[in-house]
Amino acid sequence: MSITTRFAPSPTGYLHLGHAASALFGWRRARAVDGGRFLLRLEDIDPTRCRPEYAAAIQEDLAWLGIDWDGDVRVQSEHLPAYRAALDRLDAMGLLFPCFCTRADIMREIADSAAAPHAPDGSLVYPGTCRALSPARRAERIAAGERFALRLDMTAALDRIGVPLSYEEIGKGRVTCRPNRFGDVVLARKDAPASYHLCVTHDDALQGVTLVTRGEDLQSATDVHRVLQVLMGWPEPAYAHHALLRDATGRRLAKRDRDMSLRDLRAAGVTPSELHRRLSDYR
Ligand SMILES: [Zn+2]
Repeated sequence: MSITTRFAPSPTGYLHLGHAASALFGWRRARAVDGGRFLLRLEDIDPTRCRPEYAAAIQEDLAWLGIDWDGDVRVQSEHLPAYRAALDRLDAMGLLFPCFCTRADIMREIADSAAAPHAPDGSLVYPGTCRALSPARRAERIAAGERFALRLDMTAALDRIGVPLSYEEIGKGRVTCRPNRFGDVVLARKDAPASYHLCVTHDDALQGVTLVTRGEDLQSATDVHRVLQVLMGWPEPAYAHHALLRDATGRRLAKRDRDMSLRDLRAAGVTPSELHRRLSDYR
């Protein structure tokens, strides 16, 4: 069976060794099967952190590594109306609410409650403050020019779905999802028109991605992505989460190693084939 995978970095800096491992992991799988496709997507939806020069550098560095991709590069910032349309559909289902809270507001609420403060991805679990606002009060605050994020009402979303969710992790079998532990995730931020969760699931569906490859640090987020896929009627891809890069003794690479960019390595005389050998486990 053929597959479509993708590499989807954010252009917030130069690619480093960890990115190379992740790109090779998806690329090798796509290139190992007849008709396999490997896509490149730039997740540059956050205008405060992404830079065009890094977007260009990513493509140069991948080409230097000998990694080719199929079709055009998808640049998320060029498709904002598509993400808006997805948000509108969720809103029409009654599953979104505006959240006016600052981080300080959320911290204060959490300090007053017994709930676990952090989701698996390290974000704060939202205590639900704005979910309880009346429609009139919401309209008032919006009319007053208060900025807001859009959150998914997770309880309502799971009620609507009505069945437990799971996904296929290649080589491991079905994994049961526990999206509740993320609470009401942000789908559009105050300072960015859509969030990672929304854009990544939208694009994987649009681009026909059948195998999502990415680091194990993002595995827990799959729980949220399955929720969005089912709500939106998007197909379910398979998943392969790879281990993060470690040194010869099994420790996660020291910051200075991780931070060494492919450009630095190249300038130091490291060749692409040396990197392919060093990252031979990523397949
Ligand atoms: Zn709020």
